[in-house]
Amino acid sequence: MKLSKYYKKLQVDDGVYAIYNSLIMDVIFVDNDELERIEHLLVVNRDELVILLEAGIYIYDDETDNHALELKRNTLKMRMGKVNTIYIILTNACNLRCTYCAVKNIADKEQFSEVEYLKMDVIDKFIEGYMRYAIKEAVENVDIIFYGGEPLLVWNSLAYFIQKTEKSKIKFSYSIVTNGTLLTEQMVRFCKEHGVNIGISLDGPKYINDMSRVFSTNKGSVYDIVIKNLELLKKNGVRATLSITISLEVINNKESFLDWLDRI
Ligand code: SF4
Repeated sequence: MKLSKYYKKLQVDDGVYAIYNSLIMDVIFVDNDELERIEHLLVVNRDELVILLEAGIYIYDDETDNHALELKRNTLKMRMGKVNTIYIILTNACNLRCTYCAVKNIADKEQFSEVEYLKMDVIDKFIEGYMRYAIKEAVENVDIIFYGGEPLLVWNSLAYFIQKTEKSKIKFSYSIVTNGTLLTEQMVRFCKEHGVNIGISLDGPKYINDMSRVFSTNKGSVYDIVIKNLELLKKNGVRATLSITISLEVINNKESFLDWLDRI
């Protein structure tokens, strides 16, 4: 009998330790003396031995650890299922500076460097790797969500990704989560032609939206541009969904927000 290689201990208080097998995570709390005794395989009685064996702290031989690892792998595989929803962060750069932005180290579009966007060869490698996985796991439908930063800043990479994957045997569906300020007629037509869903971030009427959603240059109204681009989508028969951040301003102005939502 021996300690499992997955045995761990963690001091949780003065003279108190949590001991556990990191695959099983069945925690036992012990004091200093008990810890020392257990680590030296000095069990006091049969009941204690059973507890330590069941918690995976003690094992009879290495085969027990190998078997436990295999079991854990299979359970995780069954629980996780197949990877068929993928967020692609094409860039961490953005032309806005929303006050609540969660993207750390957001970069200006004027300051693109090699690390701030996915280069074509990286995209190629990812697609090749994912295709191998998808064929092996018999994945039939995949949702790709382009995210950022602002994904429309790297439009060529986005269009390249779609054109490269859409002809495969696997059925890809595409969505873009965008701030909606950079849409052009050419992009809208492409999205229509390739069945790309567009989700646009807009937080309510102009006075609420423009409080938090602002250009990096701090000039002009984000709201006005987005509304103009929603018209462009409408004109081309492309439906867009709105992604709304429920900020304190929205909650404090809920009547006018709901009224706006009715009209938009
Ligand atoms: S548009 Fe999105 S990524 Fe850009 S600043 Fe606003 S929250 Fe951040």
